[in-house]
Amino acid sequence: MLKKMKWLQLALLSVLAVILLAGCGGDNESDEGKNGGSKDNEKDMLTQIKENDKIVFGVKNDTRLFGLKNPNTKEVEGFDIDIAKALAGEILGDEEKVEFKEVTSKTRMPLLNNGDIDAIVATMTITEERKKEVDFTDVYFDAGQSLLVKKGSDIKGIDSLKGKKVLAVKGSTSAINIREKAPEAEVLEFENYSEAFAALKSGQGDTLTTDDSILYGMVDEDPNYELVGGTFTDEPYGIAVKKGNEKFVDELNKALKAIKDSGKYDEIHDKWIKKQ
Ligand code: GLU
Repeated sequence: MLKKMKWLQLALLSVLAVILLAGCGGDNESDEGKNGGSKDNEKDMLTQIKENDKIVFGVKNDTRLFGLKNPNTKEVEGFDIDIAKALAGEILGDEEKVEFKEVTSKTRMPLLNNGDIDAIVATMTITEERKKEVDFTDVYFDAGQSLLVKKGSDIKGIDSLKGKKVLAVKGSTSAINIREKAPEAEVLEFENYSEAFAALKSGQGDTLTTDDSILYGMVDEDPNYELVGGTFTDEPYGIAVKKGNEKFVDELNKALKAIKDSGKYDEIHDKWIKKQ
């Protein structure tokens, strides 16, 4: 009887041991999978870029001074383009190791997050809201939101927008901020900046609002327009990268610092940024 009990106990214990071991084994495996996976992802992004031997940047194609496609050469030109090239020069040793894909304010984060582009350099403000979806580098340019009007307009600033039609671009901070700052204005949103400026020129609205830096590009194109009222927000631009790629963000920050230290950044700034 006693012997039988011992055997039964032993059998039960071994079953328990097998279950426990199997459980532990399973956990270990999935933990390794998770950690290994995320580390690999991080390594992959930078390694991937080095393997591809190029960085795919999402840039604007319709924003004069920052990212504008030249119809003659079919090349994109501007401050963001030159910054992107300089960063590739630091990271891959050659400014030409870049590919540019067009983004708009609305499409840039989805295109980044589905892997179409490696980084966004496209007049993009660093905001707490956007930080939930993407990671940003250090600030590489400081802008502020303003208003563009046809010369002679009765709009003098943010306080004269009651009952006025304000044009803005979808997916921009400008479209959100203006509703907060001028709740009595009517806001019309467009797909991109060339459409919004065309709408202003054809009289579909009374003013266009976005960063002063972008509006200066429009004045550069057509001096019948001017900025009014100064700036009413801070728009620090950052380069956005898909979340969880710290090493790539660090590499971009190092590259940004290097081009600032070498004088390259100032050279690019002086070439494109209008001092008004
Ligand atoms: N900097 C602002 C933003 O990130 C306006 C410019 C833009 O639409 O890209 O939304």
